[in-house]
Amino acid sequence: MNKVLIGIVMLMSISQTLSPPALQASTDAEAVVAADHLNVRKIDSISAPVIGSVRGGEILSVLSERNGWAHIEIHGKTGWVSAVYLKKRGNGKREKHDEAGIWNVVANRSFSTQEVRRSGGLNGKRIVIDPGHGGVDRGAKGAFHSTLESELTLRTGLLAAEKLRAAGAIVMMTRMNNDYFSLANRVFQSESVFADAFISIHYNSSLRPDVSGLSTFYNKSVDQELAQSIQEGILNGGTNLQDSGVKFGDYYVIRENQRPSALIELGFLSNRHDELKAETQDFQENAVSGIVIGLENYFNQR
Ligand SMILES: [Zn+2]
Repeated sequence: MNKVLIGIVMLMSISQTLSPPALQASTDAEAVVAADHLNVRKIDSISAPVIGSVRGGEILSVLSERNGWAHIEIHGKTGWVSAVYLKKRGNGKREKHDEAGIWNVVANRSFSTQEVRRSGGLNGKRIVIDPGHGGVDRGAKGAFHSTLESELTLRTGLLAAEKLRAAGAIVMMTRMNNDYFSLANRVFQSESVFADAFISIHYNSSLRPDVSGLSTFYNKSVDQELAQSIQEGILNGGTNLQDSGVKFGDYYVIRENQRPSALIELGFLSNRHDELKAETQDFQENAVSGIVIGLENYFNQR
């Protein structure tokens, strides 16, 4: 630990000398290596040269994160590792502007750090709502009103959080504003609170303007039931979206997630009818009610 601390102090001194603002971006977080062996690379790329390695259980400092990679410091040296294999340990004092500032969110919640199994209904269930995209990542753009997917997913997500809380669930959002969070951070949030369900909200886009409809994706067969239940909930909720089916999807936030997870594509922004519909408050209310009912049915069946 001392070596790590000395390393941090050294690094802080360097940052201050070179460019003080760089210090603002440091995350000041510790993480434990959660793989047997993890390569440390020169830059944040799988093809970058390996400059060292760390072993399972070793503790390192996370300086920053981007695109699923963590800039780490250990024994006075820095490098990049895949953030997926890090289990972070927040200190609760982190600043809001941290890119990985989600630790704050976790630290300030009343979540216990243990898995708690409750049966039936939404009461006490931990639901992580993930409004897709955000910040520089704006997602799809509506064909007619230039609706931004990142703004619409946030609107849907905030409403979903409100309705789920009203139904007794404990809700956490991967983002509450237009900040950018990496996909790895979103998965981390889901896993660190032992989410009973992680729901990623998106709006689809296609080069063919006639393509429309609602799809819910799962990545692991065990999550198919969750996706099915949400799809049915939304279809029965009065959104009048066409049923484009429950499908397997190879999306990072549901693929890397060890918690029950599903990704919803609430219509196509590239389709005139879907876009205009999605913007209305009626649609938002109906879609979210459908998600809530879908989740409730899913938990009732377990
Ligand atoms: Zn999307």
